[in-house]
Amino acid sequence: HFGRLCRLPALAPPCYNNAKYDEFACDRVRIRRQAVPSPEFPHSISEIVSMTIPDTITIDGPAGAGKSTLGELLAQRLGYLYFDTGVMYRALTWAALGHSVDPGDEPATAALARDLEIDIEPPTVADGRQYTIWVDGQDVTWNLRRPEVDQQVSRAARHPAVREILRARQRAIGLRGKVVMVGRDIGAIVLPEARLKIYLQASLHARAARRAAELRSRGFAVDLA
Ligand code: C5P
Repeated sequence: HFGRLCRLPALAPPCYNNAKYDEFACDRVRIRRQAVPSPEFPHSISEIVSMTIPDTITIDGPAGAGKSTLGELLAQRLGYLYFDTGVMYRALTWAALGHSVDPGDEPATAALARDLEIDIEPPTVADGRQYTIWVDGQDVTWNLRRPEVDQQVSRAARHPAVREILRARQRAIGLRGKVVMVGRDIGAIVLPEARLKIYLQASLHARAARRAAELRSRGFAVDLA
């Protein structure tokens, strides 16, 4: 998918015709550049990429398949927002814990989700983050990785009422465009009209190894027997 999606379109704009190109490669993004630029011709990689790449890309697939690795790389390369939709469930869980709402209580958690302002932006601080998450105007990016959120998030995420509210929020962010969205339901339910939907698969071994490395990087001792 990665190779195919980055190739130039078969139907090139008129300024490609009869022109003299030089050529360079940027990893797998192969771009032809006109030796003598014309006014209509795009002058930068991002201009060219934006002509050829769908505005919204979704990545779905099982845990450990490499969705976030591919999503982040793709977003960086394209200058898009990388939107890992799991952070929405994490943001809600973090807020529930702060408001003494039990994430297992569907009506209370859904009511909180309805009231909560959650937004995601490209990183606003260069501290290794992939994005910045705002909850009610507060930057909670790193709080969302705390163990108490890890432990409770799946309880909040399993309520249909909660999922409906957060899916609508995810959809609104996806419809802004220039976004790579990653997570469960994304291509099938949240943004079915996305022009490029990637379903990423990997062997069980590769998935287990990736998940183990991720846990180790967060300080857990993991033995892949
Ligand atoms: O990917 P991450 O671990 O940050 O996701 C946190 C949790 O949010 C998942 O364990 C899952 O319960 C939930 N989730 C979801 N649907 C998504 C993304 C995440 O239910 N699209």
